[in-house]
Amino acid sequence: MTPERYHRIRQMLALRQPDLAVCLEKVHKPHNVAAMMRNCDAVGAHHLHVIWNTRHEIRSGTSVGSQNWLKLHTHHTTQSAIDTFKRQKMQILVTHLSDSAVDFRQIDYCRPTAILFGQEKYGATEEARQAADQHIVIPMQGMVQSLNVSVAGALILYEAQRQRQQAGLYKVPRLDEQECQRILFEGGYPRLKTLCRIKGLDYPQIDEQGQISAPQSWWQRMRENHASSMKVN
Ligand code: SAM
Repeated sequence: MTPERYHRIRQMLALRQPDLAVCLEKVHKPHNVAAMMRNCDAVGAHHLHVIWNTRHEIRSGTSVGSQNWLKLHTHHTTQSAIDTFKRQKMQILVTHLSDSAVDFRQIDYCRPTAILFGQEKYGATEEARQAADQHIVIPMQGMVQSLNVSVAGALILYEAQRQRQQAGLYKVPRLDEQECQRILFEGGYPRLKTLCRIKGLDYPQIDEQGQISAPQSWWQRMRENHASSMKVN
């Protein structure tokens, strides 16, 4: 990759917020998933969790490539996602209109936070509602009761972004270097990434010019039987 692209990716990674996670519970319309990925990328929410109890594939659609720059986690149950957030000591916010729900602007998003969004038609499940530390809601003053899920996501994430910017959380890089290296390699060398998967090879290091730093043995494995596909990006 060019040094310019390397620096562009590094700049983006330096703004990532590893402790601001989004969780989509059974949100199934591809354009909503894709739009939420784009929201996450835009504010630097690095971890996107999706809960699907059936097999779904993330299609790029309207995410315009933002899926390449996030860490996607798939769960088959809501409990699995909840357990992850609890292990990471995150406050769990569930977007749900209930008697105890508070206006989303009353929350402190500088704390490690996971925000769960519910399915397009039925909203968050009872299981998710029960596990919440807090229900949050975007006030609705018109005739309809809810917003599109990705619109709700954008509003809440930008409130989190506003608070975190004010608190200086975008000033210091916060994503660990191992994850930065993964994104740099996958984003900077997509064809080699595919070959690594096919051949079961570990990812190499990316140096400060954006070049691959790997031993001869790695390059040799890369070239084996794949001479025709060895066009380095
Ligand atoms: N009938 C569903 C319900 O009662 O929850 C509506 C689901 S809404 C179309 C889909 C998702 O968008 C919700 O689960 C929530 O995550 C989010 N959402 C939509 N409007 C919202 C609002 N005003 N406040 C908070 N979240 C909202």
